[in-house]
Amino acid sequence: MATVIDGKAFSEKLVADMAGYAAQIKEMTGEAPGLAVVLVGEDPASQVYVRNKGERTKAAGMRSIEHRLPEDTDEATLLALIDDLNNDDAIDGILVQLPLPDQINADKVIQSIAHEKDVDGFHLMNVGALSTGQDALVPCTPFGCLLLLRDQLGSLSGMNAVVLGRSNIVGKPMAQLLLAENATVTIAHSRTKNIEEVCRQADILVAAVGRPDMVKADWVKDGAIVIDVGINRVPAPERGEGKFRLTGDVDYQDVAEKAGAITPVPGGVGPMTIACLLRNTVVACARRHNLTLDGLTN
Ligand code: NDP
Repeated sequence: MATVIDGKAFSEKLVADMAGYAAQIKEMTGEAPGLAVVLVGEDPASQVYVRNKGERTKAAGMRSIEHRLPEDTDEATLLALIDDLNNDDAIDGILVQLPLPDQINADKVIQSIAHEKDVDGFHLMNVGALSTGQDALVPCTPFGCLLLLRDQLGSLSGMNAVVLGRSNIVGKPMAQLLLAENATVTIAHSRTKNIEEVCRQADILVAAVGRPDMVKADWVKDGAIVIDVGINRVPAPERGEGKFRLTGDVDYQDVAEKAGAITPVPGGVGPMTIACLLRNTVVACARRHNLTLDGLTN
């Protein structure tokens, strides 16, 4: 039976470390790191995410600055706000909650964020820096996965890693991070042939496809480390009419019989994402102020 990788406990420790750094920064500069979160519109899931981010930021002793704009905000207004935040010395990190309404070009907005404040790690400068092995702000979810893998394995050098999914937010940066750790990396996607066979070669399998319970035990090598990024809402009639539950991209009960270690959903990768956002805010703040903080490296 697989070891259960407790992302919740790991993330709590990471947040506590970040709170320690935030306190140090406040002592050195007079101000704790500041994270600006911009929400456009009323999307219920986005509202929950933004509220959680704000609460967790404040709980870690950092400053949370929220900007809520109406659904019909035009692109020029949003770009003007980002310009102000880019030039505001009190702001260390800027996050624009996605998705954005249709009248706004999300790519244009992301590229307008100053790359040194781009705590989501989506700006082309950060994407390029990550893929060329330079200092980057790294996307939060894949970085969270990497921290869990390092904690389980120590060195990842020479291991076969398969990443299921090739999105810009998860799959591609995950593959870059694994490559930087000297793993041998394969990226599988919807056009991959013999995908089960590809996955069976993996010592490390990261699933980020958004397909409930897609990965089964016979896709997994004995003893492999399985990281499940998927968050899928599926009907749960056993909980009552119209109720839902969350499930990952991995069939947990089935795969836990075969894997060496596995992340649950919820309680695995999910909590690592906000913890890594706080981490990126601390890193962005330290870099902008040229501060060296003991132990804070990628
Ligand atoms: P995207 O929809 O952007 O990408 C999905 C990827 O999976 C694509 O590359 C797609 O391939 C591939 N894919 C889809 N279906 C199949 C299939 N049947 N076989 C093989 N590959 C397939 O999703 P994201 O990367 O944004 O998110 C993935 C999952 O992770 C979602 O469940 C999401 O909710 C979750 N997530 C969780 C986060 C967290 O904090 N834990 C944060 C971000 C995402 P192709 O490119 O060929 O279309």
